[in-house]
Amino acid sequence: MYLKLLYKGLDLKVPTRNIYCGNCEKEVLGVAKEDNFEYPVRNLVCKINGKRLFCPDCGNELFHREYDEANQRIAFELYRKETGIISPKEIKDIREKYDLTQREFHTYWVLEKLLFQGMKEGLCRR
Ligand SMILES: [Zn+2]
Repeated sequence: MYLKLLYKGLDLKVPTRNIYCGNCEKEVLGVAKEDNFEYPVRNLVCKINGKRLFCPDCGNELFHREYDEANQRIAFELYRKETGIISPKEIKDIREKYDLTQREFHTYWVLEKLLFQGMKEGLCRR
């Protein structure tokens, strides 16, 4: 399954430390580029607008933890929106809004999911 969605990347600072480039076998100061690229989350490929770092000498992509974490957050956010999986914060917001206990909310959520699955499988016909 292919997800074509764009999500505005987070504003990350330009790196000031050197990162090892496996191609050049030395530490280099990466060049940040903002572009659209694919980030797989489980069975989906999310197309995100994020930031990546590249070696200025050979163009090889460098692994930068903060950048990767930010890109991952964006991709997960998309994944959640697409699959209907809600985030822990959303659960908390809904529970507070309707004043539900954790158990009540869980029951509701399970029923909703079963109904949705049934509709998808054509079990519920109008
Ligand atoms: Zn390099």
